Amino acid sequence: MKRITRVFEQLRPTDPVVITMHQKPDPDAMGSALGLYHFIKKLGNPAVVISPTNWADFLKWMPGIEEVIDFESKGEIAKKYLFAAKWLFCLDYNNFSRTRYMEGILTQMDCKKVLIDHHREPQSESFDFVYSDHTKSSTSEMIYDFIKFSGKADLIDQDIATCLYAGVMADTGSFRFSSTSPDVHKMIAELQGFDIDHPKIHSNIYDNFQENRLRFIGHVLLNRMELMYEYNTALIAIPKADILRYQIKTGDTEGLVNFPLSIQGIEMAALLIDRDEERKWSFRSKETFDCNTFARKYFNGGGHYNASGGRSSLSVDANIVEFKKALKEFLIN
Ligand code: 5GP
Ligand code: MN
Repeated sequence: MKRITRVFEQLRPTDPVVITMHQKPDPDAMGSALGLYHFIKKLGNPAVVISPTNWADFLKWMPGIEEVIDFESKGEIAKKYLFAAKWLFCLDYNNFSRTRYMEGILTQMDCKKVLIDHHREPQSESFDFVYSDHTKSSTSEMIYDFIKFSGKADLIDQDIATCLYAGVMADTGSFRFSSTSPDVHKMIAELQGFDIDHPKIHSNIYDNFQENRLRFIGHVLLNRMELMYEYNTALIAIPKADILRYQIKTGDTEGLVNFPLSIQGIEMAALLIDRDEERKWSFRSKETFDCNTFARKYFNGGGHYNASGGRSSLSVDANIVEFKKALKEFLIN
């Protein structure tokens, strides 16, 4: 495995580049991928962004997103790019399994592989170049660093700045989480030098839903939230019927897991959603609850200390039972 700065010694101007991120990309995954995409194109290389799945409507304003290929719906086109790639950039995930049906292809690809990511416990042995740091606020911040390492930061423009701003803003909870370091603030100050419309970026992400989503949140908070004050924990479990009734789409449940953390005494919030093929968990904590270890140990997942996700093939009811058992065991140890 080589140092990330050596990428620039080896990247030749004609090398085709493919950029990927985790399935159901969030603003950091999409923002870092598009920020890098615009930069690589300015270096002169042919580049393409491939997402393992579709993405939320509230990302559709991002510069360049109309060129992103969805592997699930355009697999054949995506595969052509993947097989022709000389470089594969993997952003905002630590393990190929986070790319769903792309996992097999990415594992087998015979090209230079670069990981840039801020999740814990990266699968480093699968990559030629690794830039992994779980203390970083976001992958978008790391792409900014990466651009600086290249010595070509003068190529940053309004599109790159906009994409990276969106990623850092979303992954820091609008510059609120402890990961919002002095470096993050310095980076944002520099990005603002590119005349980005930051109030618009915030409202594009947070004020860009349909009525059904707000009604759904009202219903869920009223009827599906269980508070376990003895464990400082809240659990929201959403059955398939709710998803259908409110016509919930990709991205509509983003942020929902954070609501219970606004209640005094609640330090951990868990959200379970019944998706077609699996049950998806999200975990968030305020203080000393280690969401990453909890998700890894009990729900086949992982992530960060204060934010993680997991999944299970069991039913919603069976998951609730498992969760309560796991929580007790985890808090005792
Ligand atoms: P979310 O709850 O928004 O899906 O995910 C929260 C954090 O945990 C994100 O940083 C995400 O990348 C990570 N994460 C979510 N699901 C999984 C999973 O199944 N496995 C791993 N390793 N990380 C996950
Ligand atoms: Mn991220």
